[in-house]
Amino acid sequence: MKKIISSIIIAATLFSAITGCSTAPGVKVDTASVTASGNLSVYADWLTKRLTADGRLTEDTEIILGNGDKAAEYGISVDTLSDEGFIIRRTADSATLIFAKTDDGVDRGVRYYANYCADEGDLNVVKGEGPRIGKITIAGADLSEYVIVNTDPDDLPMVHAAEELREHLGSACGIYPEIVTEATGNAYAITLVRDADGSEYGDENFLIKSHDSGITITGGKYRGCMYGVYTFLEEYIGVRFYYKFGATSDRGDYSTTYIYEAEKIVIGASDIDYYGEGSIISRCGYSSSPYFSPALKYNGPMYDKPGNDNMYSHIYGTYGVAGNVTHGLHTIYFPGDDFAEWDPNYTAGKNPCFTNEDLFDELYRRVIADLDHRTNDLGELPMKERNMCCIDIAQLDTSSFCMCDDCMAVYKEEGATSGAVIRHANKMVEALSDTPYSDVYVGCFAYFGTTRPPKMTKPDDKVIVNYCFYITDDGKTMICANHSLGDPECETNKKFTDLYEQWCEISENTYIWYYPSVAYYFANTTQDVFKMYGDIQYLANCGTYGIMALQDDLDTSRIYFMKWYLLQRLMWDADMSYEEYTGHIKEFLFFNYGDGYELVFDYLELMDRVADGDGDCWAGIFSPPMYKLDFSKLKAEKDRILALHEGARRLARNTYEEEMIDALFSFSRYHIAIATHTDMWLNGSEEDRAWYKENLDTFVRENQGAILYLDWGGAWKYTPAPGSFDYDVNPIEWMHCNPAMSWDSDYNY
Ligand SMILES: [Zn+2]
Ligand SMILES: [Zn+2]
Repeated sequence: MKKIISSIIIAATLFSAITGCSTAPGVKVDTASVTASGNLSVYADWLTKRLTADGRLTEDTEIILGNGDKAAEYGISVDTLSDEGFIIRRTADSATLIFAKTDDGVDRGVRYYANYCADEGDLNVVKGEGPRIGKITIAGADLSEYVIVNTDPDDLPMVHAAEELREHLGSACGIYPEIVTEATGNAYAITLVRDADGSEYGDENFLIKSHDSGITITGGKYRGCMYGVYTFLEEYIGVRFYYKFGATSDRGDYSTTYIYEAEKIVIGASDIDYYGEGSIISRCGYSSSPYFSPALKYNGPMYDKPGNDNMYSHIYGTYGVAGNVTHGLHTIYFPGDDFAEWDPNYTAGKNPCFTNEDLFDELYRRVIADLDHRTNDLGELPMKERNMCCIDIAQLDTSSFCMCDDCMAVYKEEGATSGAVIRHANKMVEALSDTPYSDVYVGCFAYFGTTRPPKMTKPDDKVIVNYCFYITDDGKTMICANHSLGDPECETNKKFTDLYEQWCEISENTYIWYYPSVAYYFANTTQDVFKMYGDIQYLANCGTYGIMALQDDLDTSRIYFMKWYLLQRLMWDADMSYEEYTGHIKEFLFFNYGDGYELVFDYLELMDRVADGDGDCWAGIFSPPMYKLDFSKLKAEKDRILALHEGARRLARNTYEEEMIDALFSFSRYHIAIATHTDMWLNGSEEDRAWYKENLDTFVRENQGAILYLDWGGAWKYTPAPGSFDYDVNPIEWMHCNPAMSWDSDYNY
């Protein structure tokens, strides 16, 4: 008897419809128990299809899916399972039973069965029973004997560190240690200590040390202890903080954790002596994307507190130094570009005069008013005096600068336009020095017109220079995304790194703007995954203070989440080996795509090879896909790409992962259509043409809304795949690539 029985009536209806069971012999639908536990028929349907495809569905197959009530009928309790847990059971005289507390658990159960269980013989699989970690012992004492001592409860990141430690220990093993401010009696403790003046641990460094009465984590003045806690949880408890891809989740749901299972974790009194220090001094890889991990909550501009709307650098809600700037001169202080009132030479579309005294005085007045305003706004908050860490007086988004006699004289003396900008920033530091805001840093750009450093004037210690790895001063060359920064093969990037290194010689405070996830042609979204390793190593070796990474969250493949995660891994530890780096990639892929992560990794590597072409330079942001991808090579890999996709989706642990795999691979069908258009559609056999059409139709059908490119025409516009189209036109033309960049439009790959 073929039986896949779901436990609810609507399930029965749908199942019947899909399998045509009114005539199919042996399919029996159980309508005896109607519960409100959700629609399980989709999982029954999935399993039916999968077993049929694999030739495993026989007359004898009898599988029963269900939630709690159904399980109870068979004397099985799912009450103690986690939401992801499931039970698979089969004895000599029973059907195969797959039960779980949640629908997701059933989903995981059927997929586990399909991938790992035999069709015959006894089965007893239990997943998700009890906490992920059975027992944690530190210095000979069970975690239940421990308290968490927060020795500086007035410091918000310390409070956060203690709460996070308690929360994640609890999630891992079920024991939530009490948080206290003083150790009492002989209690064992994990003690959090803050180096308040940063004399030993700077802003963010930390030490984790185990001893006879527990563990002490000592951290630098701003976020050191918090990082120490996260590192302790990662290194010694097996917790991972990562991002979950997701098409529809609200902000915040993206950051999540994974806990490796362990029977017990034993930490001896002398086992841990771990000193942590970031490779990039400020470890918050600040991003223009609003998504952030728990490890970033108190880390930089995303620092979430009342009065801070959390976005962008015009909000000075930063706890500690974060010096990224974004054209603040006009976005913050002169939003109407009303420079002309003070600067008679000003005309729209260029930068105002950086040597004009009246304009400087007005800017200073507005800066002070703004700092006063923000101080007052922050009201009751403790540590408010630290919240104004960096002001943004950075230039406008143009390479056109003032040509007045005074400015020209400075440019000549300094051998660079940046001379006027740096003198201007230094002057602001000087002006603030006898105000309550003398600790405030002053941020400016080295960008588009000012990338060459001045010959004479050095930036003040309180000036943060934001160097943009983006475009040359003459506007002719974009940063290359096919080579890492510092790659000797790359003449393009050398133009940028030569100048950046000169900045690093005269300033300890260099931030950079970095564009690893921005592309106007989203169809190639895997770029940068591997080359980021070399980029961050280079930047760390230069002594880079901080990184502002620009991200585009319109990429429907969602792979930018991983780039963002990897960026932070590297900022933390740029010295890791390449094997460690690819290990981080694989781990992240495992969390998001399931057991087929190696296949996904192979796809990313394959795309990297296909992207490399002949080692030409191309711009990650603007270059059309014909520069970024070698479609001839891609054509040769067509079957491999499709096989990797199919293989990975078979091993997805639940529907969500399967959808994310489809999202990642979605553009591959588009790429294949571009690569095979001439061979298979224009010149192909009937069979080829049918294959071509089905492949392209699948892409269009399954990727409604997938963004292909950012339109150039006038206003910026994100454009998806077309609803209808002419099959005789190579679909690469859907992207309307910028005709200013010439290419071979034969498209015969
Ligand atoms: Zn001027
Ligand atoms: Zn290059």
